[in-house]
Amino acid sequence: MTLSLSPRRDEIGLKDGALLVDGKWRPAADGATWTHRHPATGEAIGTIPVAGESDVDDAVRAARRAFDEGDWPHSRARHRIQVLLRYASLLREHAEELRGLQALDNGVPLMFSTNIYAGSVEIAADVFAHHAGWVDKIGGQTLPPYQGGDHLAMTFRDPIGVVAAILPWNAPFLLFAQKLGPALAAGCTVVVKPSEFASFAVLRMVELLGEAGLPDGVVNVVTGPGDPTGEALVTHPLVDKVSFTGSRAVGKHIVEASAGTLKRVSLELGGKSPTLVFPDAPDIGLAAMTTVGTVTMGLSGQACVAHTRALVHRDVYDQFLGAAEMMAGAVTYGDPFELSTTASPLINARQLDRVLGLIDRGREAGARLVCGGERAGGDLADGNFVRPTIFADVDNDMEIAREEVFGPVLAVIPFSSDDEAVRIANDTDYGLGAGLYTTDARRAFRLARRLRAGTVGINGFQVEPHLPFGGFKQSGLGREGGQSAFEAYTELKTVLMPLSEEMM
Ligand code: NAD
Repeated sequence: MTLSLSPRRDEIGLKDGALLVDGKWRPAADGATWTHRHPATGEAIGTIPVAGESDVDDAVRAARRAFDEGDWPHSRARHRIQVLLRYASLLREHAEELRGLQALDNGVPLMFSTNIYAGSVEIAADVFAHHAGWVDKIGGQTLPPYQGGDHLAMTFRDPIGVVAAILPWNAPFLLFAQKLGPALAAGCTVVVKPSEFASFAVLRMVELLGEAGLPDGVVNVVTGPGDPTGEALVTHPLVDKVSFTGSRAVGKHIVEASAGTLKRVSLELGGKSPTLVFPDAPDIGLAAMTTVGTVTMGLSGQACVAHTRALVHRDVYDQFLGAAEMMAGAVTYGDPFELSTTASPLINARQLDRVLGLIDRGREAGARLVCGGERAGGDLADGNFVRPTIFADVDNDMEIAREEVFGPVLAVIPFSSDDEAVRIANDTDYGLGAGLYTTDARRAFRLARRLRAGTVGINGFQVEPHLPFGGFKQSGLGREGGQSAFEAYTELKTVLMPLSEEMM
């Protein structure tokens, strides 16, 4: 029987989406809507408003008023900490509901959002709690006079202002928190734009901010696609900072579009992350399973951190491929609400065509297809499911090794020496993550320092709230997570005061 998610939607009682402007939920001014089709079934799941220019203008002006005239940016640390911690608790209380909404949004299975920390509501709650901890530690410096008379010089960190937070569809819990946690802790006000392919969980997360006691207007939401909604937001003159997570192409466009008023921009973009497997890895099978897991389990490779290029030493190449193929065979698709389902569909038909095209061209270029390479059929034929795909004997110049596929596709590339492995690993436009599997600690640290990537995992990696996360090269600008993220939502101000007549 063909899979249907309509009964799940009815059980959850999904409401159509709305815009939030100054504490009031409303439709788009011109009534325009977008119908969300579920990626696992193609069914219409619900609608969201398409915010046009005037809706975006209303939302930005509400955030501007809340920043320029409201209490939030100047509120006492105790108040802001209490709101953020209350919110973290509310997220935990509503975890089950949020996981269900996300499964209706993007088809990420409950198995993943329940059991994998980086994909859970728990990590989002922890990110808010982590940033609550920064609120009473927003400090500056006191500096001695350099020349001239006696004077006092101090630095302060002011909130940056109105933030446009633009989210992708793949990991809304974590990415909502990585932006709003530091922004709200710093005293900013925000207009959030979720992806048109994953709005429902985010809308509920925003609703819970009101329950936590956040004043009206501090967080506003506009829904809809890049054009017109995102475009109106990134070009709006009253926005001070754009914080964007998404594709490299849109990231580059945002830098250009926001240049008119020289907005601050932070970008978390794509990756083509390598993992290096040496003969002395603690466990070759485990290295293969972890690597294949990042490109198949949960998000089906639609994760910026996926290690999509496996660079494997020739001495353990066949052993690695055998374990990788076995892991690929363990991936299961289907109803995301069933705990036996381990991986999600591709988000939409455009992405399905793109991934299948890249697979075809990988074959034509001479890469050896070990498994997968096709859609799932049977009762899943209406969904955007692609079987876990492993290519061996890939040359790093092939398109399959250079393009971010954003699907369940692993490119395995052989190497013979440490230097060759590092050269191939760094030969990419991206620089988000990298992995190393070896028991030689000196090699591990020597190579970790040579890899041009924002996060290097030695014998495994994970995403945590207090760790900086972001990319070298075309994987982005700036960092999310930890102190560096918090500082990115502040402006540094220097205040000077003469202490003697000579200075006047
Ligand atoms: P996308 O770039 O298509 O869309 C991201 C967001 O930008 C969406 O909300 C979209 O509506 C909006 N948008 C599109 N055009 C716009 C425009 N002209 N102006 C303003 N906003 C616009 O990306 P996606 O498909 O949603 O997400 C996948 C990408 O995100 C991948 O490249 C992935 O690597 C990246 N990603 C990066 C990280 C990270 O932390 N580095 C995390 C998750 C995803």
